[in-house]
Amino acid sequence: MKPFGGAIDVTGGYSRLSIHIPALQAPLMPTPPRNDNAAIDPVKLDRLAEVAIKVGLQLQPGQDLFLTAPVSALPLVRRIAEHAYKAGAGLVTPMLSDEEITLARYRNASDASFDRAASWLYEGIGKAFDNNTARLAIVGDNPMLLAGEDPAKVARASKANSMAYQPALEKIAGFDINWNIVAYPGPSWAKLVFPDDAEDVAVTKLADAIFAASRVDRTDAVDAWARHNAALQSRTAWLNGQRFSALHFTGPGTDLTVGLADSHEWQGGSSMAKNGITCNPNIPTEEVFTTPHARRVSGHVASTKPLSYQGTLIDNIAVRFEEGRIVEAKASKGEEVLNKVLDTDEGARRLGEVALVPHSSPISKSGLLFYNTLFDENAACHIALGQCYSKCFLDGGKLTPEQIAAQGGNKSFIHIDWMIGSDKIDIDGILADGRRVPVFRQGEWAA
Ligand code: ZN
Ligand code: ZN
Repeated sequence: MKPFGGAIDVTGGYSRLSIHIPALQAPLMPTPPRNDNAAIDPVKLDRLAEVAIKVGLQLQPGQDLFLTAPVSALPLVRRIAEHAYKAGAGLVTPMLSDEEITLARYRNASDASFDRAASWLYEGIGKAFDNNTARLAIVGDNPMLLAGEDPAKVARASKANSMAYQPALEKIAGFDINWNIVAYPGPSWAKLVFPDDAEDVAVTKLADAIFAASRVDRTDAVDAWARHNAALQSRTAWLNGQRFSALHFTGPGTDLTVGLADSHEWQGGSSMAKNGITCNPNIPTEEVFTTPHARRVSGHVASTKPLSYQGTLIDNIAVRFEEGRIVEAKASKGEEVLNKVLDTDEGARRLGEVALVPHSSPISKSGLLFYNTLFDENAACHIALGQCYSKCFLDGGKLTPEQIAAQGGNKSFIHIDWMIGSDKIDIDGILADGRRVPVFRQGEWAA
């Protein structure tokens, strides 16, 4: 539609016609079509956008928002922008990615391309964070997109990207600003989770699973999040009161002692960022988590769910730790990628997170493998290789990187969660004097 008729001369008074036309007000553009996917409930999708802004970010009036999303998620991006501006957002800046464009690089780019990253972009993102811009990421692409591509190229591209992203990522890991990740049921991801269903059926099923896990399948979603956050905080309060020096995991293929960092603090649910805004960085979330001591992890551990890492499925991981460092790593699938990941840098072989999730968590009960850490890590206890969260220390916001390292916090370009929990795992907390306190029995909270 053209907003003005062709006869109107906007250049000035030379056209006779223009003399007779009074000052016109530009009519409002009609709202563009949302390209909604008919397989996705629009009411729940709108609720997810509202929860992302009001719970995930608690976006403040005047605050800018930078968001990334796959093109398939446009119906959610548009609703998020609407809720952001209604909440008083200064400026919403979206950046979209596309599976075909990603694949075009792997299939057509010169070899030198795989050491390139948009460092100029990450510098800008870092500046935006310095100016208190909130960060939202929508995940929804096929997690196995790169499964058929050259693992060496995937690893190089990932490393170049991680290095360029590091300064900005540190501001996320350090909770300088409020940030949040939510999910959208992209069609290729839905077909991966539900391979036997037609695409629209798969999308509906994945949408329903995302809505249930994100607590937007109910009308009081914002209140439901307040109750859930309170429940998680009662667990972290108990753990913080215990002040365990280590956790001991036992189960099939696992006998692992995870020393906890000095002055570690347990976190879960909502969390206050350094800019004073309380946000829920992950939607969904079921975990409570803290920082392990990077030099005090020993024993062996087996993964209990496959890890989908940048398009490669890494399955049946079995690793052995000595003095905090992985000295042996095996996997029945994706072992080459796993070992490349471990060689990213010195910190990639050490732990940056340990997290507790009961086996009865709603995501675990769904029985689905999402091939996406945002969901799968909330189905089981897990550990993460790489970068720690400085927030998981007492007064963490005031510690220098040197102090964090001295207290046992790990530093790395990567942060990769993988699942070690199941209904067969027991966990004891070990106190400073060596006494043991049951924490988990057969995958559930012991008390
Ligand atoms: Zn975690
Ligand atoms: Zn993690």
